[in-house]
Amino acid sequence: MEVALPLPIHRTFTYAVGDPSPVPGTRVLVPFRRDARIGWVVGPGEEGEIKGLRSVLDVLDPTPSVPADILHLCRWMADYYVAPLGIALRSALPAVLTDVSRDYVTLTGPVPPDVHPRERRLADALAGAVGPQPVATLRKALGMGSIWPEIRSLRDRGVLTHEAVPPSAPTVKTRRIVRITNAMQDLAERDAVFGRAGRQREAYELIEASGGAVELGHLVGELRFSRGVVSGLESKGLVGLSDEEVMRDPFAAVAPGEPPQLTPTPEQRAAIAAMVAALDEPHPAPFLLHGVTGSGKTLVYIELLRRVLDRGGSALVLVPEISLTPQTVSRFRAHFGDRIAVLHSGLSDGERYDAWRQLRSGARSVAVGARSALFAPLERLAAIVVDEEHDASYKQSEAPRYQARDLAVVRAHALGAVCVLGSATPSLESWHNAGAGKFRLLRLPERVGSAGLPVVRVVDLRVSRRQDAERRAEPGRRPGRARGVLGEELVAAVEERLARREQVILLLNRRGYSAFVQCRECGEVERCENCSISLTYHRLSQRLVCHHCRFEEAAPTRCSRCGSRDLSFRGLGTEQVERVTAETFPQARIARMDVDTTSGKWAHERILSRVERGEVDILLGTQMIAKGLDFPLVTLVGVVNADVGIHLPDFRASERTFQLLSQVAGRAGRGALGGEVLIQTSLPDHYAVRAAVNHDYEGFAGRELAEREKPRYPPHVRLVNVVTSSPDQQLAATAAEAAMAHARRYVARGARAAGVDGAPRGPHEVVELVGPAPAPIERLHGRWRWHFLMRAHSPAALGAVARSVAVDFSMPAGDVRLALDRDPVALL
Ligand code: ADP
Ligand code: ZN
Ligand code: ZN
Repeated sequence: MEVALPLPIHRTFTYAVGDPSPVPGTRVLVPFRRDARIGWVVGPGEEGEIKGLRSVLDVLDPTPSVPADILHLCRWMADYYVAPLGIALRSALPAVLTDVSRDYVTLTGPVPPDVHPRERRLADALAGAVGPQPVATLRKALGMGSIWPEIRSLRDRGVLTHEAVPPSAPTVKTRRIVRITNAMQDLAERDAVFGRAGRQREAYELIEASGGAVELGHLVGELRFSRGVVSGLESKGLVGLSDEEVMRDPFAAVAPGEPPQLTPTPEQRAAIAAMVAALDEPHPAPFLLHGVTGSGKTLVYIELLRRVLDRGGSALVLVPEISLTPQTVSRFRAHFGDRIAVLHSGLSDGERYDAWRQLRSGARSVAVGARSALFAPLERLAAIVVDEEHDASYKQSEAPRYQARDLAVVRAHALGAVCVLGSATPSLESWHNAGAGKFRLLRLPERVGSAGLPVVRVVDLRVSRRQDAERRAEPGRRPGRARGVLGEELVAAVEERLARREQVILLLNRRGYSAFVQCRECGEVERCENCSISLTYHRLSQRLVCHHCRFEEAAPTRCSRCGSRDLSFRGLGTEQVERVTAETFPQARIARMDVDTTSGKWAHERILSRVERGEVDILLGTQMIAKGLDFPLVTLVGVVNADVGIHLPDFRASERTFQLLSQVAGRAGRGALGGEVLIQTSLPDHYAVRAAVNHDYEGFAGRELAEREKPRYPPHVRLVNVVTSSPDQQLAATAAEAAMAHARRYVARGARAAGVDGAPRGPHEVVELVGPAPAPIERLHGRWRWHFLMRAHSPAALGAVARSVAVDFSMPAGDVRLALDRDPVALL
């Protein structure tokens, strides 16, 4: 039997198994090296022919935990992103099901006298303990190697139970339910059965009126029936007692409001109609829903989902990050109530597993969640929606480095489901696909209602800084603190809103107080020990912090190189903007939202609900506040500095800037009050800034597509970024060179790479190699990094070379790693 293990090894393993052989997708426990590991059956393998084959220790699933369509998707993912199948499968399942350290055994019955001495030792160890015992701990304590054969044998004899449940967060909560087992039809029968047992009859009829089942605790608690009454019913054979599972849902406590009854606009109606019609197509092409901010995309999704559920289907909605879009989620919840399972990053492993099982069993039929919700086990999946499809969070940064938006298209295609990618600022990939006719473009060109898109004005920081300097030179003038942070126009605009009791959003996409500390004497910039990144000054904690590896140290008072005390703290961060804002507007209630203020569970929700309740006048933060928020009282959005990130050495820097500016601008004027956006920048003529000012997505896309022609970048070509890393700088370089040489030889052999699938060979099926060179971020987490790019038109040709690098290339000895990132979101 062929088993995939979640190990960084590009192959599967063969094990012997008894009859009947478990079906593909079933979890098994197998011996691996000197350990036991969880893997998945993925095929029949070549049993019988191999001698000395090790046996499977245990079959963990009664029914496969990976349904056939997810197994298919994982195979596709493993193949395309060049990841081991076991790693792909692990990323598709809740952690509880994939981690061997979560296995527990509990002694449940008497130990028969004839057990093997090893089994007896295990049973004795269990008898001496209370409650479930972790297998890993037992194994260590007993010191007799793998104890799985014994566990299996004792389990089969009813001596113990085995479960994959962490006892600290009991996964399955149960409650006792009283359920009617013998329904009585007529009154005469009731009179005869109950006679003078009036309380029994009352209880019986109450259970009947409650749909045939009531929780025992409720019956004897609030309803005050005695336990004897229930026993009486039980002994008459009228009711039965059973333990049923209770699911925990943290969102359940937050009651969603009534769904608003909205009448779709003509544009919304057209989009809905096209999607609903596609439900009847065998293999509908994906839709790209390009709707400006505030155009009512959510209502379109909701109407599509409603039709899907009406037809008995299920649906999947991906959102960038649930904690940032609580409003979108609560709209879905208001419409679909407990048919929804929300897969939130704040869920504990147990809660996540609960949600997963509810979907698997069909108890819930809509999954809403971030990237990994793509793998929700839904049957009769008829629609997949990817909201804010341009968002970078859909790409996973570790193996398997999948792009959930692209996998959504793949999953939908395999099932014949409708796939909708929605955004106000579609990724250039999707826009390109729409242009090429692969996606069907639907447009919502206007905002709902009369509001219209907000007016966007640019404040040229070069000019305002010059004016500031001149004014400072005037005698008798004290420059305000806002100087250089909040310009005069922005201050005036904020004051206006505060006076009218409206709300303001201020964006600066950089956290901390100062981005870097530089010595004025010798020019030295304080850098992270582990990364080639300057350290950010955090004023509150008085520390310098690396935003990549979290290294931190006390803020210096002297230059680390020359000892000078003349240090300048430069590069604005949100912490400083908060301070300046508080000093400039002492009466305003300010909330800051960035990674530093949202580390606790539900922190985002708390901040956003304060804004929603009108307890905040100014919400400031990083890109976190640019996504999906819908607050009608926000009439002003100020971008403190639009230039952050625009010069990053990455081919998507302009696209990211345009998306961020457009999205944050889209938070303004969503209500009847209208709105305005002020963008402070020293690059007012940059095309990303100009297009954002003019709400001109298509103009931006046209220009950006042209920019990516030379040199050629996606979407014109496909990319694989190959990154090597090592604590030894030379080794990282050597490995990159060797890997690239391997790739070059493979490409040179030509036919195999280019002629995959017997496709005709053309000039653009050649795989180009670029590099190797030090990565833009040369050092990260203490490892030096080199990279090279593989570029091609043909996904198959590119995949073949990538696979060869991953599988056939042998890395030089030493601590060096190689990572393949297919369709990278960034090349940093
Ligand atoms: P988007 O996601 O496109 O930015 P939303 O879906 O958040 O836009 O919708 C913006 C606002 O318009 C929301 O407050 C929503 O309730 C409202 N809205 C959407 N469609 C309609 C409609 N047909 N009639 C009235 N209000 C609507
Ligand atoms: Zn110095
Ligand atoms: Zn660092």
